[in-house]
Amino acid sequence: MKILVINAGSSSLKYQLIDMDNEQVLAKGLCERIGIEGSNLQHTNVGRDEKTKIEKPMKDHGDAIQMVIDALADEKIGVIKSMDEIGAVGHRVVHGAEEFADSCMITEAVMKALEKCTPLAPLHNPPNIIGIKACQKIMPNVPMVGVFDTAFHQTMPPKAFMYALPYEFYEKDRIRKYGFHGTSHKYVAQKAAEFLGKPAAELKIVTCHLGNGSSISAVDGGKCADTSMGFTPLDGVPMGTRTGSMDPAVVTYLINQKGMSAADVDAMMNKQSGVQGISGVSSDFRDLSSAAKDGDERARLALDMFSYQVRKDIGAYAAAMGGLDAVVFTAGVGENDAAMRAAITDGLEFMGVKIDNEKNSTRGTVDISAAGAAVKTLVIPTNEELMIAIDTKRLVEGK
Ligand code: AMP
Repeated sequence: MKILVINAGSSSLKYQLIDMDNEQVLAKGLCERIGIEGSNLQHTNVGRDEKTKIEKPMKDHGDAIQMVIDALADEKIGVIKSMDEIGAVGHRVVHGAEEFADSCMITEAVMKALEKCTPLAPLHNPPNIIGIKACQKIMPNVPMVGVFDTAFHQTMPPKAFMYALPYEFYEKDRIRKYGFHGTSHKYVAQKAAEFLGKPAAELKIVTCHLGNGSSISAVDGGKCADTSMGFTPLDGVPMGTRTGSMDPAVVTYLINQKGMSAADVDAMMNKQSGVQGISGVSSDFRDLSSAAKDGDERARLALDMFSYQVRKDIGAYAAAMGGLDAVVFTAGVGENDAAMRAAITDGLEFMGVKIDNEKNSTRGTVDISAAGAAVKTLVIPTNEELMIAIDTKRLVEGK
């Protein structure tokens, strides 16, 4: 079965067509500037390693999806003969709130429930919903599945997901920890169990998704027990431009004492903070590493703050689970930044985490633990699109 994976943003749409008989990506691409001047489609025929850029107005996501289908079925740049070869579509949806603890077939009732989750993710869910509707219009007979960033974290117990606010804020407004990057945490936790040749049910794993946005999860017996992102993706460790956790009273101080508006504080915490805000250099970890090497002290501080917070979360989650079998690193920084992995794990020897410097410089899916280390440290490249396709296939086949 060939599955089209769609990740719709407000003015962009990413896609991959995956052949699930062998889990190979046939084509992938990106529509940019949807509804804005200069819209274009960047399409890659993976088998031929051939990239094509098509500049054409796209007034909405419907136009974008149509262009994607046309490119996929195009005689020259395409990979299928017609749209009929697409067996199902898997849609990434950011927020499934408490409504969705697993991926699900999209029905009318699901669309209504999705609309209900929108106030919790006002920037992300509306474009996801628009993307689903546009696909349904163009491919009315193709089954569609929603895969939620929050779903994997729905197994957290109340003691982990509740905030100590008056209880009615949970009951009436559903204010609680939801967690994000769930598709990635689920994928790498499953891959780690496969790699270690043990059932997921027997493993206690801390998964570290470290990229421009970062989150850490405790995965106990294959299920999420806790995670570092919260009500929104602002919580947890410092990120590219996001603060991560801090005393919430800083927010009221900035509003009451510095006269900042709530909107200004929100924008500052999301867009001007994190390692960018600390270093004043960049939100990109490669830039920070080279600045730190050249003696930039604030870049060094930003990197130190990051590795310290991730290390603290690994320790906290080992304590929360009452043990630890493996630590997994994934995403842009987790997969590629050997120095950061070394800095994070440095000092965790007391709890059995020790890496081998030579193995740590290898790429791909790899065990970087030192010989005899009680806890395995693994690097596993994430693949959210494949996870979405795997869930889509499972549901379409009625499993
Ligand atoms: P992601 O959000 O998963 O795409 O990750 C993006 C982050 O990964 C950026 O901050 C990049 O600087 C970082 N990154 C990618 N490649 C490397 C690398 N080779 N070394 C250090 N950081 C990297």
